[in-house]
Amino acid sequence: MFEGLAEKLQETFKKLRGKGKLTEKDLNSALREVRLALLEADVSLPVVKEFIQRIRERSLGADVLDSFTPAQQVIKIVNEELTAVMGDTKSSVEFNSSGATVFLLVGLQGGGKTTTAGKLALHYKKQGKQPLLVAADVYRPAAIKQLEVLAKQIDVPFFALEEGNSPVTIARQAVEHSRSHGYDLVIIDTAGRLHIDEKLMEELQQMKDAVTPQEVFLIVDAMIGQDAVNIAKSFHEELGLTGVILTKLDGDTRGGAALSVRKVTGCPIKFIGTGEKLDALDPFYPDRLAARILG
Ligand code: GDP
Repeated sequence: MFEGLAEKLQETFKKLRGKGKLTEKDLNSALREVRLALLEADVSLPVVKEFIQRIRERSLGADVLDSFTPAQQVIKIVNEELTAVMGDTKSSVEFNSSGATVFLLVGLQGGGKTTTAGKLALHYKKQGKQPLLVAADVYRPAAIKQLEVLAKQIDVPFFALEEGNSPVTIARQAVEHSRSHGYDLVIIDTAGRLHIDEKLMEELQQMKDAVTPQEVFLIVDAMIGQDAVNIAKSFHEELGLTGVILTKLDGDTRGGAALSVRKVTGCPIKFIGTGEKLDALDPFYPDRLAARILG
């Protein structure tokens, strides 16, 4: 991921370093290249504009260009601003101090929701939690089966109810089941549709009201670029997310969504999916990603 963006930015900064003294014209031409590289990586235009403006302001102020190592200073500013765009620090996940913690996983079909439910269960099982995987996608029996198979694979208990039960009932009963069995993390996989509609949002809202989850995660495919950001915006406005999990960042993605989601929605990215395997889930560290992009 981000190979294209990383390559272009590194090339721009190599040129800048080679110059020694920097003029405002040098800075502007470098910033033009940075702007283009970000747009090509599918970062949202308003995010790019604000980002470039911040870097220009900071570089022109505080005597950066007159310093002994102007290029290095500019690169440092870019690094800081890139990290800030993505949310500065790693966002922590909320856990209930008494009783089970509930994660509600929402998103459109095909985004990687069910796979991510399995990944989260494995991630927290490794940390000593006792997760329960809950299938609440009542519209797609195949999705229920898929989650059951994943649960078996990682040896995590699985919860579903027979046909005819509503997602709200399933969610409620799953939380009760966790109480009576001593599970401390309930991960609920909900139905995804092909597009956002009122019925989907209403149902999710009812589930949210019924079980008051500590985390409402939107699972969204990073490969769809700007659309991922728009989807995140809609879900956040309708439902109040606590975090976004971007999937398929291992694929041929330009990565713009990772740089745009936080700024556009105000909602942090908490994990990224980096493969189909169940251990391919990483907490999202803005500073590490910025360092990787800048080389
Ligand atoms: P859902 O409809 O949202 O539940 O999506 P699924 O969990 O069924 O995932 C859809 C497809 O995306 C499956 O083929 C998954 O293996 C794949 N997938 C999910 N997450 C990732 C990821 O991080 N990287 C890659 N390469 N594939 C993923």
